[in-house]
Amino acid sequence: MSGSPDLIVVNGRVLTMDEDHPAAEAIAVRDGRIVAVGDSKAIAALKGPATRVIDAQGGSVVPGFIEAHMHLFSGAAELAHLQLAGLHGFDALRDAIRAYAAERPDAPMLVGQGVDYSVLGAERVTRHHLDAILPDRPFCMAAPDHHTVWANTKALEAAGILHGRTLGPGNEIVIGEDGLANGELREGEAFGPVLALAGEERVRLGLSTGGEPDPAPSASERAADRDIMRRGLAWCARHGITSIQNMDGNLYQLELLAEIEAEEGLPCRIRIPFHFKNFMDLSMLDKASMMAERYRSEWLASGMVKVFFDGVLDSWTAVMLEPYADRPDWLGEPLFSPERFKELAVAIDRRGLQIAVHSIGDGAVRAVLDGYEAARKANGARDSRHRVEHIEVISAADVPRFAELGAIASMQPPHPPGAMGFPLEPTVSRIGRARWPLSYAWRTLKDAGAHVVFASDWPVSPIDPIRGMQAAMLRKRWAESDPDQSFSLMEALAAYTVEGAYAEFAETAKGRLKPGFMADLVVLSADIEATAPEALHDVRPLVTICGGKVTYEG
Ligand SMILES: [Zn+2]
Repeated sequence: MSGSPDLIVVNGRVLTMDEDHPAAEAIAVRDGRIVAVGDSKAIAALKGPATRVIDAQGGSVVPGFIEAHMHLFSGAAELAHLQLAGLHGFDALRDAIRAYAAERPDAPMLVGQGVDYSVLGAERVTRHHLDAILPDRPFCMAAPDHHTVWANTKALEAAGILHGRTLGPGNEIVIGEDGLANGELREGEAFGPVLALAGEERVRLGLSTGGEPDPAPSASERAADRDIMRRGLAWCARHGITSIQNMDGNLYQLELLAEIEAEEGLPCRIRIPFHFKNFMDLSMLDKASMMAERYRSEWLASGMVKVFFDGVLDSWTAVMLEPYADRPDWLGEPLFSPERFKELAVAIDRRGLQIAVHSIGDGAVRAVLDGYEAARKANGARDSRHRVEHIEVISAADVPRFAELGAIASMQPPHPPGAMGFPLEPTVSRIGRARWPLSYAWRTLKDAGAHVVFASDWPVSPIDPIRGMQAAMLRKRWAESDPDQSFSLMEALAAYTVEGAYAEFAETAKGRLKPGFMADLVVLSADIEATAPEALHDVRPLVTICGGKVTYEG
C-alpha cells in the first residue's frame, strides 16, 4: 500500500460477506476503496498522521446497504407531506388532517401519505368522509402502496374529475350511486390530476409518464428540485444506504443528480431507469439507450428500463391467473397484452439493457417471465439479469423459471400483509387460501436457485433496511400448513448487500468488504448477531461511509 489510509474503522464486528474471510475487526480505506481488512491491531498499525479513526466499539460493521427498489424523488418530496401511516379510526384521521391544514393556511392542496386501506375498518373511504373532515380546501391522501388515492369533493372538482373521465386500462375513478366520483381513485391516470394540484408534478413524472418536465423548469425550480433530491439522499445515507436502484425515472432526474454530483458529490450511488409506459412506441427506447450511454459511472448510471405490467392486490388491479378470492369474476387487467410485452422485452434486451417489471399477481409474473424467455429465444442467451419486481403471488410452475432464465426476484420484506404496518385484511382474503403458500414466497424462490434482492419500495414502506431485515426474519405464516418464508439474519443481509450488487452487475466491486472493493460501509450501534430479531429495529447506523467519505454520522 502506498501512503497511509484516509480512514480506518477498528474494534468492530465486521461482517464482510466475503466467503473467504467472513469475519474481521477492522478496515482501512484509501482513495475511495477498501485497502485492508483484518484485526484491529494490524489495521491500527497502518494509521498515518492524517488518518481518521472510527472506533466501532464492538458494533457490527456491514457493507453499505443496496436498496434494490425505491423512488427517490417522490419519496423525498413526501417527507414534507402529512404522514398517516399506522393511523386508525375516523377521529384520529380528522384530528391529523385538521391540524396539518391549520399549519398550512396557504397550501393550494393538502396531501396525506401512507393511509391504511382499512383506516375506517371494513368501511371504504369516500369523499364524504373527507368532506366531513375538511369541506372547504382540496385534500387528498394516498395509500401506502401509492396505487390508490382518496380525494375530497373540493379536490375532485378542482381536478375536473368529479363527473369521471375516460381512462386507460387498469385505471379507475370509482363512481358512486349518485353518478359522481366517490373519491376513490385507482392508479396513476385516475389520481394524477388531483396530485397535480399540489404543484409537485415534476417529482412524479418519472413515475406517472416517464417524460420530461414541460415547460422546462426555471433555474429556481431546478434548484428547489435539487434540494428535494438532497433531502432524499440524506435520508438514505442516515439509514446506511450507499447504493440506490431507483424504480422510476427520466432524464431530468439524472440531470439533477449530475448537478449535485458536480456541486458537492453524491452521498449515495444511484441508478435511474428509463420508464417505458404502455402508450409509448418502441422507438422511445432510443432514449433509454441514450440515457445508458450518457450515464454509466460508479456514482450515477442508467442502463435499465422500468415497466409496470399490473397494479396491486388492494385495488384488484394486480393480474391473476385465477380469479380473486373475493371477486370471483375478475382477474385484473394487464397494462400490456402478453404479446405486446414480449415484443417490448425482445426490443429492450436486444439493446443490451436490463429490464425491471412491476409484476404483483401470478398472471403478471408469468407474462413477464414469458417475455424474458421470448427475449432469450430471439436474441440468444446472455447475462441479462432481467428483474421481476414484487412477485406477491406466484404459480408453482413459474418458481423454477427464475433460475432457468437468470431472472432476479426483487422482493420487499415490509410488504406482506401482517408484516411491517400492513394489515392482514382484506389482502389475505383477496389472495385466497389456495394461494397463501406461494404468496411473498422469498424462501421458496431462493431455494429454487433465484437471486433474491430485498428493498423497501420507499416511500411505499419505511426506507430502513434494518427494519426490512427484521421483517424478513420475523415473517409469520398465515396458516400452520404454509411453508416458512422467513430469512436468517445473514440471508437477509445478503439480500440487502451482495445480491443487490449482483442485480446491478457490480458484485466484483461492491456488496462485500474486501480489499479493492468500493469503500461503502456502515458502522452499526450494536452487534446485530447478538441482537434478538425482535429488538433489531433499535440498532441504528452510527456512521455511513460511501466511496470512503462519511455521508452520515449519528
Ligand atoms: Zn416501486
